[in-house]
Amino acid sequence: MDAGRTCLITGGSRGIGRAIAEELGGEGNDVAVNYRSSEAEAHEVVDAIEDAGGRAIAVQGDVADHAEVEVMCERIHDAFGPVDVLVNNAGITVDKKFEHMTREDWDRVMQVNLGGVFNCTHCLFDDIKKAENGRLVNISSVVGQQGNYGQANYATTKSGLFGFTRTLALELARHDSTANCVAPGFVATDMLETVPERVKEKILDRIPLGRFAEVEDVAGIVRFVASEDSSYMTGQILAVNGGMEW
Ligand code: NAP
Repeated sequence: MDAGRTCLITGGSRGIGRAIAEELGGEGNDVAVNYRSSEAEAHEVVDAIEDAGGRAIAVQGDVADHAEVEVMCERIHDAFGPVDVLVNNAGITVDKKFEHMTREDWDRVMQVNLGGVFNCTHCLFDDIKKAENGRLVNISSVVGQQGNYGQANYATTKSGLFGFTRTLALELARHDSTANCVAPGFVATDMLETVPERVKEKILDRIPLGRFAEVEDVAGIVRFVASEDSSYMTGQILAVNGGMEW
């Protein structure tokens, strides 16, 4: 990727976000590592990037809270200047069969997975628009394509990112900036650890490559999407799912 750009990775303290932060930091970019509560983990990511010769800061903020996102973006501006690459990665699950899902279960997942994407993109839209090769990268999921038992709220948010991405691609195109979605399959992170073993075995049977993704499998694709090499690709969904059909 073109070095020396400023990147914000939401939910960069753990899992996929951490791998993306370290990947983009390793390419010589300035990285803001957002977290909500995992402060120690976020600082570990910053240390790893700095140890590799890069520049990074940890920025606390609940992406679901517009005021907190505004303060977080000010901190990034003060440290590194305008943001060139926004990776909307922060996401949560609150899984239940639909008949047992409460309105609170529904709302919290909407607030973080879609509201957080609105808040961060809204605060940084002008930066991405004005950037040379500005990049908006939204982390969706195969679940947004296939649906998934017990995940009506989560699947809805992940499908919602498709319409959001295509629309932002149209609105950013005149500025030579792009918006794309990366839709991972099932990735070995804390999120997957919440899935019962017997369900995980059934999922594995549906993955032609016969394994869950490692976080690096996703981070490498995000590096490409964030780079100048992807300049003529916008409004797309990149499925990184081991060959699952949808
Ligand atoms: P994870 O291991 O649970 O990590 C989630 C990250 O998001 C953490 O850094 C967490 O930080 C942060 N986060 C959660 N709520 C937040 C909030 N309100 N504000 C700011 N940060 C918040 O999850 P993951 O598996 O890496 O998933 C990352 C993304 O990939 C999600 O959007 C997820 O939907 C998507 N995805 C995951 C899989 C999978 O199988 N794992 C598959 C497809 C797509 P704190 O700990 O500080 O809260």
